[in-house]
Amino acid sequence: MIKDYRTQKELRDHYDVCIIGGGPAGITLALRLAGNGRHIVLVEGGGHEYSPVSQELYQCPSTGLDVYAAETRLRFLGGTSNHWAGRCRPFERSDFAVAPPIHLPGWPIAFSEIERNLEAAMDIVDLPPHSGFKAINANLDGDDFVADRFLLSPPTRFAQKYAKELNETEGLDVFINCNCVDLEFDSKTGRIETIVVSDYEMHREKVRAKQFILATGAIENARQLLNSESLATGGIVSKDGFVGRCFMEHLNVDMGTFILKDGQGTDARQYFTTDAFVTEHESGKGNVTASLVSEVKAYGRTAAIKDFFENLICDIGAEHKIEFITRFDCPGDGVLGTLIEQFPNPNSRISMLDERDALGMKKINVHWELTPADRNTVKSIGLEVAKCFADTGLGFVKLEECVYDVELPLKVNPHAHHMGTTRMAASPEFGVVDENCKVFGVENLYVAGSSVFATGGACNPTMPLLQLALRLADHLNQEMGPSIGRYSGTGEFVDFPS
Ligand SMILES: Cc1cc2nc3c(=O)[nH]c(=O)nc-3n(C[C@H](O)[C@H](O)[C@H](O)COP(=O)(O)OP(=O)(O)OC[C@H]3O[C@@H](n4cnc5c(N)ncnc54)[C@H](O)[C@@H]3O)c2cc1C
Repeated sequence: MIKDYRTQKELRDHYDVCIIGGGPAGITLALRLAGNGRHIVLVEGGGHEYSPVSQELYQCPSTGLDVYAAETRLRFLGGTSNHWAGRCRPFERSDFAVAPPIHLPGWPIAFSEIERNLEAAMDIVDLPPHSGFKAINANLDGDDFVADRFLLSPPTRFAQKYAKELNETEGLDVFINCNCVDLEFDSKTGRIETIVVSDYEMHREKVRAKQFILATGAIENARQLLNSESLATGGIVSKDGFVGRCFMEHLNVDMGTFILKDGQGTDARQYFTTDAFVTEHESGKGNVTASLVSEVKAYGRTAAIKDFFENLICDIGAEHKIEFITRFDCPGDGVLGTLIEQFPNPNSRISMLDERDALGMKKINVHWELTPADRNTVKSIGLEVAKCFADTGLGFVKLEECVYDVELPLKVNPHAHHMGTTRMAASPEFGVVDENCKVFGVENLYVAGSSVFATGGACNPTMPLLQLALRLADHLNQEMGPSIGRYSGTGEFVDFPS
């Protein structure tokens, strides 16, 4: 049942599981864990709709590159899925097999651990089962870049799609306008005993549960841990520890422009690096999307420009090379956008400020920076894609200078794919959560969402974070004993196979 905590202060004395945050991760976990007489509570800070008072709590400054953390995230039921775009691309085997070429380990779990929940996660975001991930164009050259494969979710709006189940699932309490403002850790038991929740009038109450799951998005998951004084006193969180570090984004780089040769069509194309490319260049993975824009930005349309090129090319004796420019009938530059992997870097981090928000939680700063390894990835992808365009006769690419001159500041935007701030590792030396997404040093605190990503690959994060949320639900279901059913993701409960 969904209740508004401002007017319905009807929390039970004790829950089996308390989930904090009602975005894709939290909603998936709540529905998957409910049943079998269990009592699950989902506390969501926002209401049914966007509200400035809730959204204000996401305000935070950033240093380094801007991540637009306040504008991109949405703080109400359904979370950022209220405006996500729905692009889905799964992790690949090689994402789990190869450690990043930096001084940090990669994923501590096998690819099969995430792969087994792919179909179920696809179902949750309304992708047809067994449909495979499709390419919209041919390969570029096969050795360095293949056609990217992805699917588009409608996109699923979690609060709308799962409203009925959230209201009707037995044993599940969903409280909206109910903000978690503290995690209370007891050093003697090694457990989170209670969390403190608050409405917007500062009415506070403690929620007791056997297990707690943080599912507030990658930036807030770290913030919740950093904000807890009892976790700091208990030595679980420290300024020098991993909590908040290794913040990663996918790099949306303005690579440059291209012109296609005649007869190549005008549809957008999407290419993806091969594993061989990544090994050869010691780079991250990346998607390059080539799309034609209707408005000409630099050259190709006017007769004057064509004349200029004709004269210039004749002067240097290379007319055969760009003959197509002067014949280009349907002109318009193409632009090259990217979704490029960023390697984990401890200096890109969420850190606490002294200032507090309206509910008394410490504010945070997001510091996001690129490393030489990231610049190498961008440069390698840029140069090779340009070469492939020419070699395969597709067209010509004009790269931005900052792509290949790594001394220049890069023109880069974030994708609003926040990852890595509570990274998964085999030991606390390299991360915050263990293989089961449990916070190191705490018996009963788990983290869901892309904050646990050890590396981010170049796949969209939501479907993979759902795969991990389903895996976490299976783990907790096992810990808590057999359940009578599991959530199918399509509004039905299906029995576990006997
Ligand atoms: C414009 C845009 C487009 C995107 N497109 C794509 C895409 O095409 N493909 C893709 O894979 N991903 C995409 N994403 C990313 C995607 O939205 C996120 O990966 C996804 O929403 C993360 O889910 P989550 O449940 O971990 O976190 P969130 O969706 O951020 O949900 C967190 C929830 O926690 C709640 N909360 C926060 N603090 C508290 C608190 N103190 N107490 C209680 N509750 C709290 C919030 O209100 C929210 O409901 C896009 C993002 C943006 C901004």
